[in-house]
Amino acid sequence: MAKFHLITYGCQMNEYDSERVAGLLREESWELTSDQAEADLILVNTCAIREKAEDKVFSKLGELRLLKAQKPELVIGVMGCMAQLHQHAIQRRAPSVDLVFGSPAIARVAELVDRVRRERRPVLETGEGPLVKITTRPPAAGRLREFVTVMEGCEKHCTFCVVPQTRGRERSHPPDVIVDEVRRLAAEGCREVTLLGQTVNAYGRDLTPRTDLGELFARVGEIEDIARIRFTTSNPYNLTPKLIRAMRDVPKVCEYFHLPLQSGSNDVLARMNRGYTRERYLELVAEIRDAVPEMAFSTDLIVGFPGETEADFEQTLEMVETVGYDNVFVFRYSRRPGTPAATMPDQVADDVKARRNLRLLDAATRVGAERSGRLAGQTVEVLVDGRSKKNAGELSGRTRCNRVVNFDGQGSASVGDLTPVNIDQVLPHSLRGTLASQPEEAACLSK
Ligand code: SF4
Repeated sequence: MAKFHLITYGCQMNEYDSERVAGLLREESWELTSDQAEADLILVNTCAIREKAEDKVFSKLGELRLLKAQKPELVIGVMGCMAQLHQHAIQRRAPSVDLVFGSPAIARVAELVDRVRRERRPVLETGEGPLVKITTRPPAAGRLREFVTVMEGCEKHCTFCVVPQTRGRERSHPPDVIVDEVRRLAAEGCREVTLLGQTVNAYGRDLTPRTDLGELFARVGEIEDIARIRFTTSNPYNLTPKLIRAMRDVPKVCEYFHLPLQSGSNDVLARMNRGYTRERYLELVAEIRDAVPEMAFSTDLIVGFPGETEADFEQTLEMVETVGYDNVFVFRYSRRPGTPAATMPDQVADDVKARRNLRLLDAATRVGAERSGRLAGQTVEVLVDGRSKKNAGELSGRTRCNRVVNFDGQGSASVGDLTPVNIDQVLPHSLRGTLASQPEEAACLSK
């Protein structure tokens, strides 16, 4: 049986695409191997969000070239965002690559690989294709948490982002198809699904009849064995009162909301073309906390966007305090060729970005610790997903607000249980607790 090896860079969407590719190839009798040296096919799933990510890919392709020199029949493929954006640069800089294909062509991966092997010539497939829901995955029976793509693409055109160029326009999968997929996952042991889209809260507006993420929450919430629903990534611009009500009214929707802010300065937000102001963002946070007081927020922030002044940066710092994020992902702005921001004047020096990055991380760590400190003494619902990394005698799981909890299961809780745990200790990256009662008694706590 021919073997394939997958190398994945980038975001959850890429991880998910790699899983789909692995599932599709297995259906065509390919066997997955973790050893690239024994593979007949190596696929590199790429990310173009930052220059560093692209450099890593080219350096990996350089390494694979040596492997191919020893094994000329090896097929090397590049997929993902770089494939979509830089197909010609890949062919020029990495001539040992045989296959370049974008996300719309994922459904045809086996056919494309066959073509390369049959015709012994490079194949390039980066045009827009029909929207295909690929539900196949490599066998990993009983996985508790799964991602389910509900839509592809984005039409926001933030001035720093390549996604609209790499993933195309917004296209939603029909709710029935998504519900069927989640039902199948539940039958295989899944208890938590994360509904995935680049702008997931714009879900359904391109469908006929039109629908939305709130209605999808309700449908997925009816699937008995699914205990928790998460969703990512949202854009504040698309956040509606109806969706906020759905977060409140569908009990399985977890109290954890990733709501990218990107900058706390209105000038910077306008240059980013984000479509909201800091005031509007704060209004939304207040409305959400009004509806769901326990809501934990996480966010993405960019430091050093072109023209960002010290005063702009201070406003971002201030937002971290004001919102009180549980978790913050900080990125230093990096120019993406072909995006409007790449040619904006007043690019910020690297040392300034580095300094702002550190200050922001310090503030975010402090605020995150204050937020998790509030959990001390509380009883939280934990979805047990395995053993503690540091002590195999203990169980580990996550709260609804997405924090890791380690605790002694006392032989009465096991993987897959939803169980109440009293939080005794708040550590920098996790919580420690004590089993509160028997798992069977666990109510669907909303904390
Ligand atoms: S909403 Fe997100 S994916 Fe879409 S352009 Fe903006 S940053 Fe990129």
